[in-house]
Amino acid sequence: MQNDALSTELAACTSPETLLATIFKYHPDLQAPVPVEPLALELGIVALRDLDRDAASGAPIAALDKPGGIIRTAPGLPPQRRRFAIAHALGHHLLAAHTGARDCTMRDLAENRRDTAHRKEEMQANRFAAGLLMPKPLFAAFVAGLGKPAVAHLPVIATAYDVTLDAAASRYADLTQAMCALVFIKDGMVRLVRPSRSFPPLAITRGDPAPPTPPSGTKSKASWVPAETRDWLVTTRDKRPPKLSLQTLALAGGGALIMLFVNAAAERRADEEAEKFATERPKFGDGRRG
Ligand SMILES: [Zn+2]
Repeated sequence: MQNDALSTELAACTSPETLLATIFKYHPDLQAPVPVEPLALELGIVALRDLDRDAASGAPIAALDKPGGIIRTAPGLPPQRRRFAIAHALGHHLLAAHTGARDCTMRDLAENRRDTAHRKEEMQANRFAAGLLMPKPLFAAFVAGLGKPAVAHLPVIATAYDVTLDAAASRYADLTQAMCALVFIKDGMVRLVRPSRSFPPLAITRGDPAPPTPPSGTKSKASWVPAETRDWLVTTRDKRPPKLSLQTLALAGGGALIMLFVNAAAERRADEEAEKFATERPKFGDGRRG
């Protein structure tokens, strides 16, 4: 059932963030998992239907008839992917600048670049979808309640919010205060990398061979182990590399999810120590008379 007052306010919004703030103003008691289908129908979508056929590789998995307001998703999508696809298409529907009908592929639904007009719109629709399915204050409180960062938290988050592990990892990296990065490995290759804002520059990117990691299925998978900094981070000669540790979680479908972690407070202390040491040491040539 469409909410006219809400729709009028949404029409004045021009960014994913203002749209989300307005939606949450009307739904202050929203809980996880967010009911995306009733919300879509309230926000101007008139029908949710199946696409004509299963998505082949590279084919659209979500389509939006705009301004008609019909969202179609590929039949047979896992429920968590379908929820994200609906939220993504809803983002296109609500963002007035995204004109015309849409056919969105799996790649569009993972887009986080903004270097072309198309990618920027896909990225905005993804920001809307992530923010709708994992509302910021709710998500932040949930993650804080889980305690210190651990890779094992990611499946717990994905289950609670009924989203894919990829979507949970992306949102986690976006919102965490910790200096960490989440790296998905499949068939010995890096499949997806999601660093937090404060994380140092990574030396690996999607499609690279994965650096060696402790074998999963051992005790080490649940605990932090030291990682070879040079394997993962860009290092320079003039700067002391940070101490890096990692946790590995073996995934049911094969592959692994790795959490890389830098203890920011310990790094700050080490930098201060190094600085102190450097200033206390008499410099060569000091005290000489000319
Ligand atoms: Zn799209």
